[in-house]
Amino acid sequence: MKNGKTLIIFDFDMTLFKTREFWREYIFPFYIKIGIPRELIGKAYFKAGWVKSDHLIPRIFIGELYKIIKNNKNYTKKQLKDIFEKRVYSPAVKRYFYPYSIKLLKKAKKKYQMLLISRGDKKFKTKIFGYCGLNKYFSPEEMIVAEGKKIKSIEGLVIPTNCIIVDDVGKDAKVLASFLVKKGASVRILLVDNKKPVESLKEIFKKI
Ligand SMILES: [Mg+2]
Repeated sequence: MKNGKTLIIFDFDMTLFKTREFWREYIFPFYIKIGIPRELIGKAYFKAGWVKSDHLIPRIFIGELYKIIKNNKNYTKKQLKDIFEKRVYSPAVKRYFYPYSIKLLKKAKKKYQMLLISRGDKKFKTKIFGYCGLNKYFSPEEMIVAEGKKIKSIEGLVIPTNCIIVDDVGKDAKVLASFLVKKGASVRILLVDNKKPVESLKEIFKKI
């Protein structure tokens, strides 16, 4: 990483992407269509850990869903997985970007060094980033999927003097910021407010 240019670090879930709607409005209906009651899908969704995190790991969700409906012999785990992969690994997922996300990435790319750090399952996230078209804005090395802590995933990076963090969780942004500050950077945090994400992205667009 070059030292001169400011580095902008984006979070993905709920920062650029409507992750919650993506699951509830996009993924759920495919399972409802094969006859699984929405209520049970919702149960699996919460059990899979959404409440604790801003992302969901598909294999955990599918595992939970399978456990809940196991007594019903109509479905195999593989079927549940196939539905997921067929629907999710498609360019249709692009519609779940917040309005303004792409505009923001376009503008940032002209001025800054880019980095995307997202937590979750590496295989799933890498694929979905591809279908979302994020490779227009980030090289493969600039799209990091952290299976553990975000800061762990960038330990080896040379950090430029100036950094900007765009995230929807203040606590996460602060952890990342203090890591960067320890490495000698000065950091600006730009937060996306989950209650008014589009307005915040618009504001961030003006600030960068
Ligand atoms: Mg997030």
